[in-house]
Amino acid sequence: MPHDGGIQDDGMASQSATIEELRWQKFPVLNDGFVCLVDCMGDDASVVQAARVSYGAGTKHTSDDRTLIRYLMRHRHTTPFEMAEIKLLVRSPMDCWRQWIRHRMANVNEYSTRYSVAIDSMQTTEPDAWRSQSTSNRQGSAGLLPADVGEKLTATEREFQSAAERLYQERLEQGVAREQARKDLPLSTYTEAYWKCDLHNLLHFLALRMDSHAQLEIRQYATTIGERILQPLFPTVWEAFQDYRMQALMLTRLEIGVISRLAASGRTPPYANDDFLEAQDEAWKSLQRSRERDECRDKLVRLGLMKE
Ligand SMILES: Cc1cc2nc3c(=O)[nH]c(=O)nc-3n(C[C@H](O)[C@H](O)[C@H](O)COP(=O)(O)OP(=O)(O)OC[C@H]3O[C@@H](n4cnc5c(N)ncnc54)[C@H](O)[C@@H]3O)c2cc1C
Repeated sequence: MPHDGGIQDDGMASQSATIEELRWQKFPVLNDGFVCLVDCMGDDASVVQAARVSYGAGTKHTSDDRTLIRYLMRHRHTTPFEMAEIKLLVRSPMDCWRQWIRHRMANVNEYSTRYSVAIDSMQTTEPDAWRSQSTSNRQGSAGLLPADVGEKLTATEREFQSAAERLYQERLEQGVAREQARKDLPLSTYTEAYWKCDLHNLLHFLALRMDSHAQLEIRQYATTIGERILQPLFPTVWEAFQDYRMQALMLTRLEIGVISRLAASGRTPPYANDDFLEAQDEAWKSLQRSRERDECRDKLVRLGLMKE
């Protein structure tokens, strides 16, 4: 496998030039956060190289490298994707970082606010960016709050953050230990960390954190990592990840049952809601509200079998 630039015999572009282009380039996220590539071991070819060890040299004749990567992704053959490693430097507000750090399969070294003075920067929210609480999803947002409300929220945020910052500085000036002085800093305070992960686990992180169910802030970090760093470094893997993970649709046994019953009903799509309710799973019928039924309906809409 060539790793020294140029085009390989399988048509996949070699990545080494791109690593040098990307290294230490800070991609901004939120008002003062960023993600930045520190190091990368491997490229699309590393995944192929590892896979061919297990499948034998004979696979070279039956599938080209792109086809092999797509096969691996489709069938969740994960270990070849663990052969590449990506190290990032990230700057994230603490609340976002708290979600990020739940991903245990990464190696982390974080800025210490016991050892050093806390980073003098907090995540701020623009007046037109305050989101309202969703009523259907207890963990989610639903639309934006009116501009006049946003103006007030941003003004009080500014006051609060300044007061917290002042209190912290005063404590330091009075000789309070950094490890104690920090305790009232808000979750909006930025932290920085080196975060290293293999490609398989990074894709898992991105699948969860680029998803629409993830909080908008961490979604912005994940999308930046995915589109600005991973895509240029691993274009073939990224394409397969989009096709077979991010933009794929998983159907459960129950949902296949619903679709089969609708297809056998003799009616033509798009199906009406009454048709859907008639074909729904037996277990959902007695339920006034069912998240699983709603998810099934959403999938039928996505497939063009029902209207929104
Ligand atoms: C939208 C969303 C909402 C969430 N809400 C909450 C919440 O309300 N409360 C909350 O506490 N968390 C919440 N989480 C966090 C979530 O439960 C996971 O802890 C987090 O996403 C990390 O996922 P992970 O364990 O798959 O990833 P990683 O820790 O990166 O692990 C990757 C994979 O390695 C394997 N693995 C890792 N550790 C172990 C282990 N000890 N044993 C066996 N296998 C292991 C698993 O296959 C795992 O999927 C939420 C996450 C998302 C995306």
